Amino acid sequence: MARKIAFKTLGCRLNQYETDSVTSDFINAGYEIVNFSEEADAYVVNTCTVTNMSDHKSRQTYNQVYRRNPDAVLVVTGCMANNHKEDLESNNRITYTIKNDRKGSIFNLLDSHFKGEIISPDQLKADRFGFGAAEKSIRTRSMIKIQDGCNNFCTFCIVPHVRGRAESRPYSEIEKNIKHALEFGYKEIVLTGVNIGRYERDGLNFEDIVGKVLEIPGYFRVRISSIEPEGFGDKLFNLFQNPKLTPHLHLCLQSGSEKILLAMRRQYSVDDFRIMVSKILNRIPDFNFTTDIMVGFPGETESEFRETCKVAEEIGFSHIHTFKYSVRKGTRAERMPNQVQEKVKTERSLIIRDIAENNKKKYRSSFIGKTQKVLVEKIDKTGFAKGYGEHYFPVRFKADELTQTKDFKLVRVNGLLDDQDFTVTAKPV
Ligand code: SF4
Repeated sequence: MARKIAFKTLGCRLNQYETDSVTSDFINAGYEIVNFSEEADAYVVNTCTVTNMSDHKSRQTYNQVYRRNPDAVLVVTGCMANNHKEDLESNNRITYTIKNDRKGSIFNLLDSHFKGEIISPDQLKADRFGFGAAEKSIRTRSMIKIQDGCNNFCTFCIVPHVRGRAESRPYSEIEKNIKHALEFGYKEIVLTGVNIGRYERDGLNFEDIVGKVLEIPGYFRVRISSIEPEGFGDKLFNLFQNPKLTPHLHLCLQSGSEKILLAMRRQYSVDDFRIMVSKILNRIPDFNFTTDIMVGFPGETESEFRETCKVAEEIGFSHIHTFKYSVRKGTRAERMPNQVQEKVKTERSLIIRDIAENNKKKYRSSFIGKTQKVLVEKIDKTGFAKGYGEHYFPVRFKADELTQTKDFKLVRVNGLLDDQDFTVTAKPV
């Protein structure tokens, strides 16, 4: 009988991509993939350590495993394995602690384990790009890792410490990975990494890479995942006029206050951000901007927070991922004075959430009467299909004769649902 493996991923899309790729290795070797809530022979927890809350959730997740099956093999990997390696290694319920650069070898480790051969994690090959394209059964869109690590050292961020220095994947490998994903039948490719705008390898920068990816033949579209507002300009903005590149960016603002951006050691000013947005909107007026905003950075005053609110309203981000600043050991912000009280951070994050809700409703309403090319994710029992259009918001429509998911369907938007997410409703064209 096939061995059963369960996976759980916390944190960013890059982590998700890496889990998907490792999962595919097990599928291809005949293992059975089960839900994390089920009993399995091995559990792999791909952790996140970006905030205190991420640490907490990661711990909660791997602690569940022992209760579920005390005899199971437990592998803990991801950024916590880099940031809290000693703690994890001294926990005797954890069988293997695997750092990020060895994550791509988890299949070899576990497969050997089940064959009675115990490999020390340090013997595994370190390769930050040792990940193949994910099996189509796993996801609707295929993420492709083009870069890892970051050299920016924003003063609040632990990522450069746990993901390491920036490194870009050779274009030949990116292309190979994408072609595999297209052969598997994927129709949407998401370029991902830690700081992808800073891609640099063999004389190519991020804009060059996007241009080259768009030239790969095939019926598919390309999405850019979360990106810092730096390292690209007009060349990329012009590429958005190619219908193959989706009109959406998750462009990380963090704060709308110049003073706070400087203290965070971000590489742009609020004005730079505004100029970037307006240049894109001049080319594509209905472009979708989403963002990350951090509230309660040390020293953030009420008026500086209000500046952030103003920018968030003005740009109209249709989705805002709000973080409350949390101290990360070893970062410069840890030593900054004037840490903001937790209560104030909570109040500020609720205010940002309200702004985000209003923005979302307004942005999505502006599509009523317009078309969207939806990549269908699922068709539910009540006969409704759901997926994301090119502008990246959820669209629901009556499936009628449609039976196939993971393909495009052109629809016309006719309203918004009054659900929590203001899901857009539509009719096939
Ligand atoms: S750009 Fe800043 S926030 Fe983003 S990963 Fe690098 S250090 Fe962290």
